[in-house]
Amino acid sequence: LKGLVFRDNTSLTAMAVKNRHYLPYRGDFDEKQHVVYTRKHNLHGMQSLLILPLVVREDAIGTLCLAARRRDAFSNNVRPTLQVLGNQLAVSLANAASVRRLEELATTDGLTGCLNKRSFLDELDRKLRSAERFGRKLSLLITDIDHFKNVNDVYGHATGDVVIKELGAILRRMKRETDIVARFGGEEFCILCEETDTEGAVLLAERVREELGSHVFQTELGKLKVTASLGVATFPHDAKTQAALFETTDKALYAAKRSGRNKVCTVKDI
Ligand code: GH3
Ligand code: MG
Ligand code: MG
Repeated sequence: LKGLVFRDNTSLTAMAVKNRHYLPYRGDFDEKQHVVYTRKHNLHGMQSLLILPLVVREDAIGTLCLAARRRDAFSNNVRPTLQVLGNQLAVSLANAASVRRLEELATTDGLTGCLNKRSFLDELDRKLRSAERFGRKLSLLITDIDHFKNVNDVYGHATGDVVIKELGAILRRMKRETDIVARFGGEEFCILCEETDTEGAVLLAERVREELGSHVFQTELGKLKVTASLGVATFPHDAKTQAALFETTDKALYAAKRSGRNKVCTVKDI
């Protein structure tokens, strides 16, 4: 049923949602006459049917569809109880959806959809401990857009935001499944690569640098191109603690800026 789409008034389920009332009325199912979802996706071999709308604050957020092979399974003596269960299910589902939305708001950055700083630091803490325990490498990349103040000054803050959003999209597109990307603030992003040495992290950093550098932004003032600089450092080789890892990666980033920007630098460039 996943992904199934059906129109209004064409099935019992659609009508139960629309009228916010259970169907069919007596709970009997006749598959020749009744359509549960669509004709193609109907139930077979059932004698009883009860489609309960899941109602939360006046809105039907879904249905609970119960079917049984025997007759009279959902008659007047059990239906009220099932309706109460349906209502509780509806409230629980709505609560779970709210919690998920709140979690998303609390852990992600609104502009780019990347992780925010706080959740990134939590993740980094976890990954560092596990890397230490299992003797694995962990690389940190920091990207910072070059001369971004100029972009804001010349093209406006709104265009600046578009550039930040695009860099976020590039990072998420290029990273591996196990890498973590976060917007760390302003036009700075962090990427954490598990089980990756400096060599591997530099490869990713170079691909990101080239991808952003070749991207052309269409603006009201014409075409715009931007570049970014990246710093890379690796645990445990370059730093043994979270603070030291940030400090070292930042120094590498600074080296990239100092030596002309649009570059990737590592500890050996510091
Ligand atoms: P550098 O090459 O040395 O990095 O130069 P820069 O101009 O990019 O300098 P820096 O990284 O220190 O400055 C970042 C600027 O980014 C400062 C601020 O105006 C801008 N900025 C920070 N957050 C946002 C944002 O959310 N949206 C936009 N449009 N601009 C932002
Ligand atoms: Mg910056
Ligand atoms: Mg910058």
